[in-house]
Amino acid sequence: MRENVVSLRAIEKVFPNGTRGLSPLDLEIEKGELVSLIGPSGCGKSTLLKVIANLHTPTAGDVRWWGRNFDHVGKDGSRLAFVFQEPTLMPWADTTTNVRLPLDLDGVPYTEAMTRVPAALQTVGLSHVANRFPAQLSGGMKMRVSIARALVTRPNLLLMDEPFGALDEMTRNKLDEDMARLCAEEHLTMLFVTHSLYEAAFLSTRVIIMAAHPGRIFAEYHIDPGIQRDESFRMSNQFAEICRDLNRLLGEASHASALEMAN
Ligand code: ADP
Repeated sequence: MRENVVSLRAIEKVFPNGTRGLSPLDLEIEKGELVSLIGPSGCGKSTLLKVIANLHTPTAGDVRWWGRNFDHVGKDGSRLAFVFQEPTLMPWADTTTNVRLPLDLDGVPYTEAMTRVPAALQTVGLSHVANRFPAQLSGGMKMRVSIARALVTRPNLLLMDEPFGALDEMTRNKLDEDMARLCAEEHLTMLFVTHSLYEAAFLSTRVIIMAAHPGRIFAEYHIDPGIQRDESFRMSNQFAEICRDLNRLLGEASHASALEMAN
């Protein structure tokens, strides 16, 4: 059955300095969708993600989470978690303590937290570094800790803002494969911002291409959810074709943004 996770109606965001971050925009995300936002810099990707995370209040329009307002978010079946580009770990705390943080803040009893943390670490393949400190971890491992810290809250919607942008290509590919597996296993719904159309092509079931001045949805591109996201997909003609299509749409969105700027 289709279940609406997020629904935006006529969302606008005008910043205090008058910049129109988002023009009236509609968007619906269904349970199980893996949606990516791509587009030229300044087209409102982060702003849109933050509106959905309730970190930005829209100037106009209506946002619904699981059909209700934000006050109802956080209960079973309606949890959301945010992963930022920077892993933002506490340097003085080991991996376990870093991952446990949201549970401590939520008042989850210590014994329960200490069963959930190892499970989250195992999910991201980090059981062997549970006692290490951030300075002893690679960039990819720190990002995995950050993902484990989001997963430990058992989110139903995972919001990611360019999570692997600072990592090298190989690490990023590996994390993308892990995320694809995780999303399938945990039945996650995910919305993520990326600058990489290859990452969008690999991970998404729907790619939203945005344009700027003002920020808006320019086009949408659907990718068969039944595709197994693995190395053979990355090497396939089908993947190359998706990347070509996205590249063309991204070019058109950049062109449209530049025209708006000139007018
Ligand atoms: P993207 O993530 O696609 O690069 P953003 O969502 O960061 O785009 O920004 C969209 C537009 O809103 C840009 O023109 C940006 O300069 C502007 N903007 C973003 N945040 C603010 C802010 N806090 N104050 C003023 N303008 C902002």
